[in-house]
Amino acid sequence: MPAAISLEECRALAFEALSNAGVSRANADAMADHITRAEADACKSHGLFRLPGYVASVKSGAADPGAEPDVVDMAPGLVSVDGRRGFAPLAIARGRTLLAEKARSQGVACMAIRNAFNFAALWPDIEPLAEQGLVAFTFVNSRSFMAPAGGTEALFGTNPMAFACPRGAGRAPMIFDQASAATARGELQIAARDGHAVAPGAGLGPDGKPTTDPAEILKGVQLPFGGYKGSSIALMVELMTGGLSGGNFGHESAADYKHDGGPSNVAQSFIAIDPVRLAGPGFPAHVEELFERLLSNGEARLPGDRRLAARARTGEEGITVEDTLYATVRELAGRT
Ligand code: NDP
Repeated sequence: MPAAISLEECRALAFEALSNAGVSRANADAMADHITRAEADACKSHGLFRLPGYVASVKSGAADPGAEPDVVDMAPGLVSVDGRRGFAPLAIARGRTLLAEKARSQGVACMAIRNAFNFAALWPDIEPLAEQGLVAFTFVNSRSFMAPAGGTEALFGTNPMAFACPRGAGRAPMIFDQASAATARGELQIAARDGHAVAPGAGLGPDGKPTTDPAEILKGVQLPFGGYKGSSIALMVELMTGGLSGGNFGHESAADYKHDGGPSNVAQSFIAIDPVRLAGPGFPAHVEELFERLLSNGEARLPGDRRLAARARTGEEGITVEDTLYATVRELAGRT
């Protein structure tokens, strides 16, 4: 029987669990916020489900729970952040303010983050930029889990990217956020936990043969979506992250991994663009017309609409948490 809790309770549990593990107030706040936003939007694989992994990476000594990110103003359009082996949510939050200022004053700006532990969903990282009227991209890599198209050995991370477009007054931004793996690793872990098969094409078992058993894929390698096309996107994400930041590529992150079940020391980059500076004041109405055409096209929907519907629901009703996870989270929070 899953537990029913409010979003406030979710945030409090996450904050207490992280604080108990020795995570500093600033880091625990940023991480609890990220986790709660994932739960609010029904992104279960990146909500409380990630909490034990964060705690494990503190216990193993991999991540620095008190790290203060170093934000450097590199150039009129460039921000660089060294996460100093801390967790990504604080590094992102600290750098994003400067990134947004630069994008507004220059029209476009880029931020690269290295040396930060991340295995979160990406849309919460760019939604605040789009809420300020900016078009935004973000890319993050992970330790190697995925073979390139035609390969059998893990090289790339599961390497998601997300894109956000602001909308007219009162509307949440349109955001898509997708792994370049055929199936996000969190989804594989949940399918393995719950004993479900996954769709064909998700990965190869340790014997190098295709399988739909998530437990076998977790022992073997994942595959990109769409064959060589997804593989090229995963390659681009490696170059936009480990490449542009000077941080870890997926295979370098894997070499750094302490086998603690937690996140990896990876890299992330952002591009923020002021669309009204480029396209003029007609930008919001022009994109809205495209969205309306899409929405009147058969069963088509906008990416992110499932999340936003969940957000409206959970704001009223709260969330449910699978019972074993709930017990674990309460224990980590010291609420036995
Ligand atoms: P999904 O395949 O579930 O969804 C990808 C995107 O497609 C979402 O924006 C989703 O919107 C949209 N979408 C889904 N169905 C439709 C549809 N029918 N029409 C239009 N749009 C649609 O996500 P993934 O499994 O690829 O990734 C899940 C999460 O995992 C992401 O948040 C990603 O950032 C995260 N991740 C994190 C990693 C890390 O190391 N940090 C690594 C890999 C993944 P909606 O949400 O509204 O359904």
